[in-house]
Amino acid sequence: MGYTLINGKFLASIIKEDLKIEIDSLRKKGIIPSLAVILVGENKASEKYVSFKEKTCQEIGIKSIVFKFSEDTQEEEITKLIDELNSNPSVNGILIQLPLPKHIDQNNLLLKIDPLKDVDGFTPYCLGKLLMDEPLFVPCTPKGILRMLDTYEIGIEGKNAVIVGRSIIVGKPLSLLLLKRNATVTICHSKTESLEEITRRADILCVAVGKPNFITEDMVKDGAVVIDIGINVSAYGKIIGDVDFERVKEKVSFITPVPGGVGPMTIAMLMENTIFATKLQKGLIE
Ligand code: NDP
Repeated sequence: MGYTLINGKFLASIIKEDLKIEIDSLRKKGIIPSLAVILVGENKASEKYVSFKEKTCQEIGIKSIVFKFSEDTQEEEITKLIDELNSNPSVNGILIQLPLPKHIDQNNLLLKIDPLKDVDGFTPYCLGKLLMDEPLFVPCTPKGILRMLDTYEIGIEGKNAVIVGRSIIVGKPLSLLLLKRNATVTICHSKTESLEEITRRADILCVAVGKPNFITEDMVKDGAVVIDIGINVSAYGKIIGDVDFERVKEKVSFITPVPGGVGPMTIAMLMENTIFATKLQKGLIE
């Protein structure tokens, strides 16, 4: 049985083309969507993600402003900036690049972001709305995964969906989205016993652990759909996922590559959320 590669890079490029058209029509109304990104410290991976986001903004016509703070910055200084960005009508989206240095309380800062500008969907308000099945901004990675499943017409209802990883940015919101679409959802984590027995029952297996080749072929059911969210750097400096792609691909019906799968979709969804925020703030949607 052959497998189908879920081409996130290609799908993201189509989404970005559509967004460009929308941005052009906003510009004709004198509206320039803008995204403020807050980066604290010298985390190399974070710097890279922020530069991807900046580049994509430029590519499609969103104004991006990156605020860089040194590792030892105090929380109050960042809070002050968030207050200013909240009240600045020319800023439509605000995101804090995670993780933050240990001395800063991440939840405290997220609480400060105006929910109408919360393009990452991580504020308690947006997460609460998601829990209530009335999403406002949906976190970008889970949103991108659902978009990929839908585009490839992969059925979700009634399926066993297993998610490995329970972070607030991936695993937890993804579980809510899949549950809303009537999957039977299991979330696994580092304390899960007999993990492979659970993953082998998955019709849809989503992995966000952050360990290279963590999912091996014996952990996957024949014909499963495998979504690899992990981003790791191999011993040879190559970007690889959490799934042993070369072996697992022979068993599955659909699989995402790394790179070129979930990553580009995450950024495309951030762009989509920023346009949505702009339209919401300008009264162009209810
Ligand atoms: P976290 O480190 O926050 O979470 C990792 C999760 O994996 C935790 O829930 C942890 O369990 C679980 N875990 C760790 N070891 C095991 C194990 N042996 N068995 C089962 N579960 C285990 O990571 P994130 O969710 O932030 O990110 C995960 C990966 O996804 C990373 O590689 C990250 O770079 C990538 N990522 C990719 C994105 C993209 O756009 N493609 C976006 C966001 C993240 P516990 O809770 O018990 O500690």
